[in-house]
Amino acid sequence: MPAVTRKEALLRGRHVCVVGAGTMGRGIAQVALQAGHAVTLVDPEERQLEAAVADIGSRLAKRHPEIAEAVGALLVTAADLTAAEAHPDTVVVEAVVEDLAVKHAVFGAALAHFGTSCVLATNTSSLSVTAIAAGTAAPERVVGMHFFNPVPAMRLVEVVRGLDTPEQLAADIGELAESWGKQVAHVRSAPGFIVNRVARPYYGEALRLLEERAASHSTIDQVLREAGGFRMGPFELMDLIGVEVNDTVTRTVWEAFNYDPRFAPSQLQAELVAAGRHGRKTGRGFYDHSRTGSPDPLPLVQPGPVPTSVTLHGHDEQLAALVRRAPGLGCQAGAGSPARPYLDLGEPGVMLVTRGRTAAAESELLGRPVVVLDRCLDPESVTTLAASATSTQPLDAAAGLLAGAGVGLVAIKDAPGLLVGRVVSMIVNEAWEAVHVGVADADDVDTAMTLGTNYPAGPFEWCRRWGTANVLALLDALLVEYGDPRYRASQALRAAARAEARA
Ligand code: NAD
Repeated sequence: MPAVTRKEALLRGRHVCVVGAGTMGRGIAQVALQAGHAVTLVDPEERQLEAAVADIGSRLAKRHPEIAEAVGALLVTAADLTAAEAHPDTVVVEAVVEDLAVKHAVFGAALAHFGTSCVLATNTSSLSVTAIAAGTAAPERVVGMHFFNPVPAMRLVEVVRGLDTPEQLAADIGELAESWGKQVAHVRSAPGFIVNRVARPYYGEALRLLEERAASHSTIDQVLREAGGFRMGPFELMDLIGVEVNDTVTRTVWEAFNYDPRFAPSQLQAELVAAGRHGRKTGRGFYDHSRTGSPDPLPLVQPGPVPTSVTLHGHDEQLAALVRRAPGLGCQAGAGSPARPYLDLGEPGVMLVTRGRTAAAESELLGRPVVVLDRCLDPESVTTLAASATSTQPLDAAAGLLAGAGVGLVAIKDAPGLLVGRVVSMIVNEAWEAVHVGVADADDVDTAMTLGTNYPAGPFEWCRRWGTANVLALLDALLVEYGDPRYRASQALRAAARAEARA
């Protein structure tokens, strides 16, 4: 057994009072019990308490039988928090309904019972921690402790500082969460905190692409999984979360950002909500869940003859990696170093990686037929890439060349930025903006997005992989193409691209 440090002993000695025994409250109580705390779980609904105790007991019995045996001594349930022992150092974690007045009432009762040195931690996902604190007699004791569902499995906790939360309290609660086996991202109280804000484009931009009929929802999902490395595509994820739940979160964030077009909800999603197509729970959302079997096959391009000789102009990591992976391809290095790298396929045309323009626009610039490839997480291992082209010749030639590299091409409509390039660039942009306005630092954003949403890489890691200038160019091109301020690049991203160019 490792020696228990004084600090650990102090953290463990804290009394924990979890208020609300629903989905989140019972998960929070479980992780606190696992860490050795005595826990009082409070809920006015007797049947919620019974269900919570049964749930916690069976989950612990499976994974931590030794703790399951001790639960009887460590866990107390009560209809009212005044039944808890009135230790002044109690950490109260509220996970009651998402209603400001109810949260004010809970913290008011907690202060009256435990005194002003207790900690008032809120698990709110969408209310302002500052507003919750403002309704209490001791706003300097209030901090956000935002867990993710399912709590025992999800490693992230966003520790949220309201305007009155002292740094030290946030640091202490961060340490407490770490002692419960969690990883912490520190964040200032702002709409959506980190995860619910930075993840919005994953849904919003995918919905735009679907509305524009760039590809089917099933193709977008598969490409984001296979080329983007995401565990689930945006549409299957919305079907899992609940199409209407996701729509409500989007609308809440949109409203909180004064209806900024970056967060604008989707008409198409609203139609699904209106039709009661809420996803898995209603049997139908974007997908028809009564249908079994494999997803719709990807519209893969039939590979044409491999071009006999190709020339690589300029340097792009993704193009270079794909060319390296194609065995026996006679690839020459072109003279000069054009600002926009491309692979000359000879007679069929030119292949390049998206910079946010349509294939048609690139073709006008280059005076050649063009195939544009989507971006991906890892060009060394990718097996599927979306592509759009001005005609079949460059598309077939690119498919022939890439078949040798073990990469299948999925033809989509000529959509600027394609699928992974566009969705991820918008996520990266939101991450830069969140850092720009002091919501969190870049490391905390990456931690939050990899642990809170299981993204294969944090937004800043994606940005490093693709190059800040490339992400910026893609967004600037989208802004020109659509004239929609939704696509305006964060000033911080622009400044970082400038700094990168000077380095
Ligand atoms: P839930 O509906 O499952 O549980 C809420 C519980 O609070 C119920 O058992 C209810 O009886 C109880 N309750 C209501 N008023 C109470 C009061 N005055 N005192 C004590 N208990 C009271 O809700 P949930 O999904 O667990 O969400 C709880 C909180 O956690 C909300 O603020 C929500 O936004 C937040 N949250 C939810 C999720 C999620 O995925 N469900 C994720 C992160 C944060």
